[in-house]
Amino acid sequence: MLRPKTAEEIELLRWNGDLVSRTLAEVGKAVAPGVTTLELNNLAETFIRDHGAVPSFKGFEGFPAALCMSVNDVVVHGFPSDYVLKEGDIVSVDCGTFYKGYNGDSAYTFPVGEVDEETRRLLDVTKASLYKGIEAAVAGCRTGDIGHAVQSYAESFGFSVVRELEGHGIGREMHEAPGVPNYGRRGHGARLTDGMTICIEPMICAGGRGVYVARDKWAVHTADHKNAAHYELTVVVRKGKAEQLSTFDYIEKNSMIKF
Ligand code: MG
Ligand code: MG
Repeated sequence: MLRPKTAEEIELLRWNGDLVSRTLAEVGKAVAPGVTTLELNNLAETFIRDHGAVPSFKGFEGFPAALCMSVNDVVVHGFPSDYVLKEGDIVSVDCGTFYKGYNGDSAYTFPVGEVDEETRRLLDVTKASLYKGIEAAVAGCRTGDIGHAVQSYAESFGFSVVRELEGHGIGREMHEAPGVPNYGRRGHGARLTDGMTICIEPMICAGGRGVYVARDKWAVHTADHKNAAHYELTVVVRKGKAEQLSTFDYIEKNSMIKF
């Protein structure tokens, strides 16, 4: 599925990208000490369905919920639960939608109240590494250029890059070829062409890059139990500069939190 998408397909992906972006902003408004991750999940599911779409994660390979809610040392794929968020936590919220045969997929890591300086830096660097990856997602380049951009940026701050999980193409399927690793070598990997739609999603650890899967067979934890952050956007590869199909603007332009 390395073919570029048609203009019509891109519009449907853009519609989904906009909905996941707005859903993440709704969740972000509700993130606070004392709120459970299940409450956040439920408001997102209602929001998605109210817009005539379906939460694509629910039932995907048996995943039980609309959102992945990954707190602190959970990198990705955490289940929403009755866990009560507390001041100083971070929570990665990953959201997928499905509408008219196409998918949306984006993620944002929110601080809960005030977080410590090191954690703030982890969030800032992880998000900036995503934008470095997007800058490299140009027609004629390769997936290794994206991975190299993310990795070299994140590692320059002393953070580490999870290698077991990666970004992906997106279209009718949530996960299509090519895989988009967050590490790599310039000039290696699948070639990017104008109109390809991909999700770039750095998963960056404050400590070592080792991870393991919990007994629930889903939640991916850091082996050293230090925090990890995760941000994801969907883009369409273009000549010169990729175009974002999802955005953090709804989160950051309406928030009291300074990002
Ligand atoms: Mg995602
Ligand atoms: Mg994804």
